[in-house]
Amino acid sequence: MADYASSERLAPNIGSFANSYARLPAQFYASAVPTPAPEPRLIKFNHALARELGLTPPADDLAAIFAGNLVPAGAEPLAMAYAGHQFGGFVPQLGDGRAILLGEVIDTQGQRRDIQLKGAGRTPFSRRGDGCAALGPVLREYLISEAMHALGIPTTRALAAVTTGQQILREEGLVPGAVLTRVAASHVRVGTFQYFAARGDEASLRLLADYVINRCYPQAKAAERPYLALLQLVAASQAKLIAQWLLVGFIHGVMNTDNMAISGQTIDFGPCAFMDEYDPATVYSAIDYYGRYAYANQPRLANWNLARFAEAILPLLDDDQDTAIALGSEVIEGFQAQFADFWLEGARAKLGLFTAEDSDAALMNDLLDTMHKNQADFTLTFRHLNGDARSQFIDPTAFDAWAQSWQVRLSRETQSPAERAAKMQAVNPAFIPRNHRVEQALQAAIQHADYSLFEELLMVLAKPYRDQPESARYATPPELGERVLHTFCGT
Ligand code: AMP
Ligand code: MG
Repeated sequence: MADYASSERLAPNIGSFANSYARLPAQFYASAVPTPAPEPRLIKFNHALARELGLTPPADDLAAIFAGNLVPAGAEPLAMAYAGHQFGGFVPQLGDGRAILLGEVIDTQGQRRDIQLKGAGRTPFSRRGDGCAALGPVLREYLISEAMHALGIPTTRALAAVTTGQQILREEGLVPGAVLTRVAASHVRVGTFQYFAARGDEASLRLLADYVINRCYPQAKAAERPYLALLQLVAASQAKLIAQWLLVGFIHGVMNTDNMAISGQTIDFGPCAFMDEYDPATVYSAIDYYGRYAYANQPRLANWNLARFAEAILPLLDDDQDTAIALGSEVIEGFQAQFADFWLEGARAKLGLFTAEDSDAALMNDLLDTMHKNQADFTLTFRHLNGDARSQFIDPTAFDAWAQSWQVRLSRETQSPAERAAKMQAVNPAFIPRNHRVEQALQAAIQHADYSLFEELLMVLAKPYRDQPESARYATPPELGERVLHTFCGT
């Protein structure tokens, strides 16, 4: 147990906080103090990220600080207010029900970053929830968010994971409680804008937009219409993000508007997963009954979410509603093309193309079709396109036929095979957080407090583009009996 005796220990100095969200008016958040954990134990601390953030927490206090037992000096803990469309239905009040924003720090690059505890107890937005997080989902978020980062995809980060010493009740019974410390460029979501829009609070909407522009999109300030520029920048960052997801086979699983960060980072890793064999209809989330958030639906759903964002900020786009709608619609209607451009650029890199030809999208889609028909592993096919990718296909000659047209296309480029191979290795990962490996690591931790698989997986995933022959088992798809086809939010 932490020692609460001295005031010094009550507020350890771990770095300098620079809280700006706490300076916004009262309706933006509710103060929320973390609930102390009975017996905090450190599972993992991300030292490299801590250095990047300029945080120097005393080693002895890590468990207590990142369980929420010791609130660092300068932190002003709060729960953010937000609303959101969940599976298409609007909920006017959600808010941080099991997350507490400790505050913000300025990192070594001069960037403002949020430090948030997830699972540190109830807040005024908890509704019927317990404000707690289960160990499984905490480890899953730690693994997958750090893997996303290593893959080069914008994402929130994981700074720490602790167990609380408390058992919490979930569908599967009593499970260990845990707290994840998450770091984000900002936790403002589409749903944060919707919260004020739903209340007709235009003044707060404007304040929020100004806040986000200052923090994430300062370039919008110079635009003739800064709020329209904000919408355009958010659309562009989402178009790029979703393209990056698709190009590594990532399925977010719960793209509700409250789970879409305005910053363009991947956020809220619930039932997310990476696909093994390529199938555009892949769904892992056990609660996504109708496949709303299936792999191939993600661009369309991001577009839908953006339309909700545009609707929310409509009064800021122009005083005249028709003009505002026309301006917003143009951005929303341009999204698919913008996404397609990012996707095609990424697809070309995956195919090792240095130049652009009109037929490249068809070449990529032909490969994907052939992969789908032949149950080819997404990651291994691209990683070994120059090698034995054909062995991924039920009918290897189907791959050969495609490879012939690929070779014809490559013959029109001047780069050497070595240059091409280097380009391809840098974008086609050898390692992704394969669902069965993630589950194995989680189960060992939950059932036996054995974190060795978690540590090992984390280490392999830190260098996804590097061949790591000693860890080859993490590169291969599951055997039939190992497949894990469903993932859960765990809330
Ligand atoms: P999520 O599914 O994580 O995006 O959460 C959706 C909403 O439910 C958010 O407002 C969360 O804060 C809230 N929520 C999820 N789990 C819990 C929990 N265990 N206790 C309180 N609120 C929760
Ligand atoms: Mg959420």
